[in-house]
Amino acid sequence: MSSEAKLIESMKTNDILTDLGAKLVSGSLTDNALLEETSKGPIVSILPDANVVKIGGQSMIDRGRKAVFPIMDEVVANLESHKMIIGTGAGTRARHAYSVGIDLGLPTGVLSVLGTFVSMQNARMLHYLLARHGIPFIEPIQFPQLPLYLMERKAVIFFGMPPYTFWQQNPAAGRIPPHRTDTGSYLVSEVFGAKSMIYVKDEKGLYTADPKKDRSAKFIPRITVQELRDMDLQDVVVERAVLDLMENAESRRSIQIINGLEKGNLTRALNGEEVGTIITAD
Ligand code: ADP
Ligand code: MG
Repeated sequence: MSSEAKLIESMKTNDILTDLGAKLVSGSLTDNALLEETSKGPIVSILPDANVVKIGGQSMIDRGRKAVFPIMDEVVANLESHKMIIGTGAGTRARHAYSVGIDLGLPTGVLSVLGTFVSMQNARMLHYLLARHGIPFIEPIQFPQLPLYLMERKAVIFFGMPPYTFWQQNPAAGRIPPHRTDTGSYLVSEVFGAKSMIYVKDEKGLYTADPKKDRSAKFIPRITVQELRDMDLQDVVVERAVLDLMENAESRRSIQIINGLEKGNLTRALNGEEVGTIITAD
């Protein structure tokens, strides 16, 4: 017996390692049967009473005060009753930055860096609008303080882009980073076992086609990821990566898309009402 095997054996006999622990320390992390065993047991919901709310970049923030002021007022009005982790989209400025970057021949990872800074600009703007309510802007490195801020101030603002920067994966088609602010916000909701994932955009929810381009598009109040895939729509209202991630989600197996240009919808969604579209993994 090697000295490593002896050590594992003695840890097992002394009850230091669980059966799974023994298999993991000595086994291979690319063994599918072993990986299967690691999903046994429930997952901890870290912040089960927090809502993740993504404020759209192009759909909301780029519209300026006529869209942003009312939704910020609604956020403030809900501080007493709901905790909110508020992510920001990037929007039109990011699309312009992507177009210049693509023209210059820059790779997806670099485009991802550009998008991150635009969603950061939007987060900073919302943060200064909400500063007098004591709501902090947090960067990924400050997420360990998130529970305290939520307890004390009921909300925080973060930039929606997942902080992969250069480590962003290439998309199947083209060069635009596939994991953008819808995805980054979604992943925050999933990892913290949050109460909801609410997308605040400029349409009622999901339609059979982009309602801005097709006047006959039909509204879909509720749909599963699989049904949505089967419909094979030309365009959808959230990043497709979110739908992919939902399939393996441990906690956040539904998302809600609402029209933030209509007063009251955010409040209704926070109260658990079925406003807008609900997409579920099951
Ligand atoms: P955000 O500002 O949050 O990033 P986007 O502008 O990227 O939002 O996505 C929302 C937009 O998606 C809507 O304004 C709508 O025009 C468009 N869209 C495309 N396909 C659909 C669809 N099938 N249903 C609803 N909206 C769609
Ligand atoms: Mg978008």
